[in-house]
Amino acid sequence: MKSDNCIFCKIANGVIPSTTVYEDDDFRAILDLGPAAKGHTLILPKEHFDDVTELSEELARKVLPIAAKLGKAMKTGLGCAGFNLVQNNGAEAGQTVMHFHLHVIPRYEGGPEIASWIPGETTPEEMKETAEKIRAALK
Ligand code: AMP
Ligand code: ZN
Repeated sequence: MKSDNCIFCKIANGVIPSTTVYEDDDFRAILDLGPAAKGHTLILPKEHFDDVTELSEELARKVLPIAAKLGKAMKTGLGCAGFNLVQNNGAEAGQTVMHFHLHVIPRYEGGPEIASWIPGETTPEEMKETAEKIRAALK
């Protein structure tokens, strides 16, 4: 556990009670207190990582199968038609709790609507230049 002032460390490790839908040695998945839709779930590692860039590769490999399992259970158990996986990194990206978490958000026919991005415009030149910048930074 990172420190006393990380609420998700406390929740993941059972120091603060939560509505838990899944738990194993590494993760706890809880219902979100401000759900975007009924069943909105957060998967929290028990160990503290600020965001996905800090998450260990071992846990990164484990988290996606859990999300898939939860999404499948939401379809069967809650009758949703689909689900979104959402994961915010950094305040500018909408991260409000600085402990890595993966949202699993059920989507039902008829809503509620969940805000998405508005598709923008680009050009082949801009795409080439942008891709070059990302590739260079990967090295
Ligand atoms: P994010 O904006 O990606 O950092 O997501 C943080 C999420 O945590 C939001 O959807 C909040 O509603 C949710 N949240 C914050 N505090 C709690 C809490 N104590 N228990 C459950 N969910 C919480
Ligand atoms: Zn934490």
